[in-house]
Amino acid sequence: MSLCDMNSLLVAARQDGYAVGAFTVWDMESVQAVIGAAESVQAPVIAQVGPWEADFAGMELLAEIVKHVALRASVPVAFHLDHGESFERAMQAIHCGFTSVMIDASNLPFEENVAVTREVAKCAHAAGVSVEGEIGIVGGGIHSAESGGELAMTDPEEAARFAAETGVDALAVAIGNAHGFYKAPPKLDFARLSRVAERVSIPLVLHGGTGIPDDAIREAIKHGVAKINVCTEFVAAFGRAFQEVQSQPDFAYNVPSLFSEPRRRAMELIGEKIKLFSGKR
Ligand SMILES: [Zn+2]
Repeated sequence: MSLCDMNSLLVAARQDGYAVGAFTVWDMESVQAVIGAAESVQAPVIAQVGPWEADFAGMELLAEIVKHVALRASVPVAFHLDHGESFERAMQAIHCGFTSVMIDASNLPFEENVAVTREVAKCAHAAGVSVEGEIGIVGGGIHSAESGGELAMTDPEEAARFAAETGVDALAVAIGNAHGFYKAPPKLDFARLSRVAERVSIPLVLHGGTGIPDDAIREAIKHGVAKINVCTEFVAAFGRAFQEVQSQPDFAYNVPSLFSEPRRRAMELIGEKIKLFSGKR
């Protein structure tokens, strides 16, 4: 298999009633964990890089690592820019070899969000690259807006207009989901999601997958969600495993003893997520 665009993966997923997991990567271990987990359950996967990771590691370096691993993988891998905050960032990603970009202008007024998203979609499609847009604001993380408020939720009519006017391939929705750890289990607005899904035929994207209960994930997939993003939980799996291995009484600092267990633990977590999203558990 190899690198593929995201659209082909997601259209098949929405049609057949499952979702493809999208996991944030920032270095070699995270890339190996994500793609290795997808291979272990033989399902497609999306490796994604947001502005934080791009600024941390450099888009070009990350692109080389992902391409190297993806091109040797036994499953299809899409390489996606998460929360591209500008036209320039999206174009830079395309130049680096990303096969998909998100343009997130959801904090702008509707018409401005449409205008910048449409421009990115036009250029990305000319390069064979898929595009994800966002309507409504998913709070937390890189957005300072508070999550869950009615004002930030996706309006079904607006979503339909946005999809038609921009030509995006996938649409991120705000239905009570948020980035980071939830203080209490989130209550997703499935009635709203279902009204969006009735009006928008392209695959829908659920951000803030960390901490959403399994049953709610399954329900979201029934209502058109075909891509689910998980970042915080994955980063935390690495972080906690690092702490644990170093607190072992016989721990000695060398590369395998420090890095192998965190990578294995993270891969295990991703494998479970992919199984859940693909309906295998
Ligand atoms: Zn997000």
